[in-house]
Amino acid sequence: MQTDTDTLHFLDDDQPSGAAKELVWRLMVVDDEPDVHRATTFALTGVKILGRPLEFLHAYSALEAENLLKTERDVAVVLLDVVMEREDAGLALIKTIRQDLKLTELRIILRTGQPGYAPEIETIHDFDINDYKTKSELTRTKLYATVTAALRAFEQIRKLDELAFYDRLCNLPNRNRFLDLSDERLASGRHPDDVMAILDVDDFSEINDALGHQQGDRLLQAVADRLKVEINSDVVLARIGSDTFGLMGSSRVVDPVALLALFRTPFVVQDDSMVVTATMGLTKLLGRDVLARDAIKDANIALKQAKKTRRGSFVMFSSEMGSEIRERVRLLQNLRQAVESERLFVVYQPQVNLHTGAVVGMEALIRWRNEDGSFVPPDRFIPLAEASGMVVAIGDWVLRTACHELVRLQAMGLADLRMSVNVSQIQFRHPEFLEKLNAALLDTRINPKCLELEITESVAMDDPQFMLESLHMVRELGISIAIDDFGTGYSSLSHLRQLPIDRLKIDRAFVTELSRDVSGGHIASMVIELGRNLKLTVIAEGIEEEAQAQKLLAMGCHEGQGYLYGKPMSAIALREWLADRLASQ
Ligand code: C2E
Ligand code: MG
Ligand code: MG
Repeated sequence: MQTDTDTLHFLDDDQPSGAAKELVWRLMVVDDEPDVHRATTFALTGVKILGRPLEFLHAYSALEAENLLKTERDVAVVLLDVVMEREDAGLALIKTIRQDLKLTELRIILRTGQPGYAPEIETIHDFDINDYKTKSELTRTKLYATVTAALRAFEQIRKLDELAFYDRLCNLPNRNRFLDLSDERLASGRHPDDVMAILDVDDFSEINDALGHQQGDRLLQAVADRLKVEINSDVVLARIGSDTFGLMGSSRVVDPVALLALFRTPFVVQDDSMVVTATMGLTKLLGRDVLARDAIKDANIALKQAKKTRRGSFVMFSSEMGSEIRERVRLLQNLRQAVESERLFVVYQPQVNLHTGAVVGMEALIRWRNEDGSFVPPDRFIPLAEASGMVVAIGDWVLRTACHELVRLQAMGLADLRMSVNVSQIQFRHPEFLEKLNAALLDTRINPKCLELEITESVAMDDPQFMLESLHMVRELGISIAIDDFGTGYSSLSHLRQLPIDRLKIDRAFVTELSRDVSGGHIASMVIELGRNLKLTVIAEGIEEEAQAQKLLAMGCHEGQGYLYGKPMSAIALREWLADRLASQ
């Protein structure tokens, strides 16, 4: 197939400018004998085949033919002499046509003066040669029949290609064709300044739903038409998805600022004037060794990013984005394996009363040790587990493990210790969460008063009505609730006042801050003050120094957790730690 514009030219049957131009079949005669040219045109003058007249192109050598085919569009049939400047000149040209020029639709009729030069069967097959004739066979009638058959084949192949490679709605190449054309550009190495872009019409499915598919289709056509008009021909433009267009070309033309500016003028669709915006993802990382398939993935990653954070604008792909995503995919696969091969475990970090120094409880924290012994921090894999839904199963397992540990501690005579378990948003919102919580209580028969759930401030403040109801149900089970990482979210005081909670947990960052002088006072002291007003216990996490503990105590903070007292430790280490501590109290 030829370049995109060629085929567009072919598709342009009904030119918008009015009078449809008459379509012709273009035939090329390649022969070193001028007589053959004359005889052929003479035999076919004035005939119409499949409703169209014929137009002839003439080449007198294989080289001349090659050059012509590079520039001329829509040549349907080549009548080709086998023996010209060399014995195999014709066959060599066929190879060039199919392999180098990639003219796969073009039909080839071989002609030879001497029967001895017939091509091998394989050649006929491999190079898709339509017919082989000796020149003596090419009488007027026979020639007519042969050319008609070839043109019919050409038309069929074109139609099939059109279906496979064209989008009929917008009259543009489709995704397959976009990839092919882009690959050709990439392989040529002649466009170092190219970018590939995906342009996505914002909220298209809403428009479709609201105004109907017909109107949606017309809008897409209007967008496609505007892009066609505004973009010069040296850009690959295609419709690559229902409401997305692909572009590849010089960065001067495929310029997101200019392209998005095209959306400032409303699109006139029937009698409506529709205002739509678009978002773009682009990649510059192109080169001879890049495949269009990979480039489009990168552009898509950038597009997704743009959709999230910059609707109506664009994001340029950077290699970090790709490696970040690949890294995340890898991590997720590993996490799945880790869950299966039980490489996750729970550690416990003590919590103490700042006044008396007595242990009041511990927080259960999940750990993941890789096969190579390295640890993946929960801050990295919990968000992934959330995104993939795995956090529901993982969280349930942590909850049960922690409850079982509590049973063991109670058997040691430590009946009052509290176990805090982190619960992520996805887990908390899961419809079966309360059921599972209740089942864990029933199965382990722990005292619900000894169990506490930690939910982060941002989760607590999201969807107030839902949280209010759910937290009440948790409290009805007898379980207490702490707001984790307090101070990092944006709590509304009135909302906080309503929530059935027991404890505020000052985020580590505000404890670290205590070692410095901070203008306007410490956030920790404000949180403690708030807790006092709302009659909530306040616990500070991440206490590493005695001085921090003293300051917190002076401010009125009740409880603390941090390396100063104990690092997160295994269940066995925790039991030893507790035994030592109790013995010395
Ligand atoms: P978090 O709930 O705020 O947990 C406190 C984090 O601070 C823990 O990090 C803990 O090891 C760390 N930490 C405690 N004391 C100190 C200290 O004195 N100095 C320093 N530098 N760090 C201290 P970790 O275990 O890496 O956990 C990070 C976060 O991961 C947790 O923050 C929590 O949001 C999440 N997470 C951990 N386990 C679970 C779990 O089982 N389920 C869910 N949903 N999230 C979990
Ligand atoms: Mg926590
Ligand atoms: Mg925290």
